[in-house]
Amino acid sequence: MIVIMVPNASTHEISDVITRIRAAGYDVHLSEGGASTIIGITGVGSPLNRERIGQMAGVQSVMPVSHPYKVTSRAYHPDDTHIPLGTITVGTADLAIIAGPCSVEGRESIIEIAHAVREAGANALRGGAFKPRTSPYSFQGLGEEGLRYLAEAREQTGLPVVTEVMDSAMVPVVCAYADVLQIGARNMQNYALLHAVGESQHPVLLKRGISSTIEELLMAAEYILSHGNRRVMLCERGIRTYETATRNTFDINAIPVLKQTSHLPVIADPSHGTGKWEYVESVSMAAIAAGADGLILEVHQDPEHAASDGRQSLKPERFAALVTKLRQLAPVVDRRLIFQPPG
Ligand code: PEP
Ligand code: MN
Repeated sequence: MIVIMVPNASTHEISDVITRIRAAGYDVHLSEGGASTIIGITGVGSPLNRERIGQMAGVQSVMPVSHPYKVTSRAYHPDDTHIPLGTITVGTADLAIIAGPCSVEGRESIIEIAHAVREAGANALRGGAFKPRTSPYSFQGLGEEGLRYLAEAREQTGLPVVTEVMDSAMVPVVCAYADVLQIGARNMQNYALLHAVGESQHPVLLKRGISSTIEELLMAAEYILSHGNRRVMLCERGIRTYETATRNTFDINAIPVLKQTSHLPVIADPSHGTGKWEYVESVSMAAIAAGADGLILEVHQDPEHAASDGRQSLKPERFAALVTKLRQLAPVVDRRLIFQPPG
């Protein structure tokens, strides 16, 4: 249930409503960004009399929320959530272009790619230091050493760093180096991890699980938001279907569905969504046309020898060509691409 207050409700009226809800045992989430204050009610408590609350001073209306996610829903927070990322603000007209290798492979290589993607127009750097690999025999990442190289690449280029955290115990160490915590597809329903990043104030890039529904993605986001961290970006990265021509099936539908049902920014990952670099440009353009707030793309200077995901990685010059196309597309869909000034 959500309670919508009249636009000029007094702080006294708002606090009376909150006191009544809390007295019944529920948690309260306040949304104050828009024209009027909205009070979200979550948790388990004794039955609330909707009509009585509707009659309280300053209350405009009381709405049942039929879907299971509350704080994540647009009903609760009608305005788009804005998340600062370096020189841009995700969720506004600014397009987020996050680019870099699948894995951090070494100091020189990550610094070289960081400079290349920044020069091509990226506004954030990606790269996994902790890698969730399907096989225990595949490259598992450089760990904290990789985080140090990412931080050095940020220092040299000014690009904020997006990197994966795989385990709740590792949240503090990843927070010490990263600007955005990535939750990978394989961990979308790791509730201890969602809880831990929910208690940090670092922005989170939450990837859709390999076989998860849109509602399950929104419920995973709800874990993070309900623990106090509202800076969540949702990421469509393709789902498993019967199709084998591509690594995953990029669910373009998810973009308008997520934008309609939630206030959180949506980032598209055409690299994992297709698994083949030659399809990445088309799907990137489609995702932005469909309303995505940005892209996360794998870029590698030598994809044939990449430690992971080389097959889907763009060479820097192809990435640069894609950014040029995105720059032409952006104004058609009321977006803009901000060039990162030299760092
Ligand atoms: C990645 O971003 O390299 C990654 C492992 O992605 P996903 O979790 O979507 O498979
Ligand atoms: Mn990858």
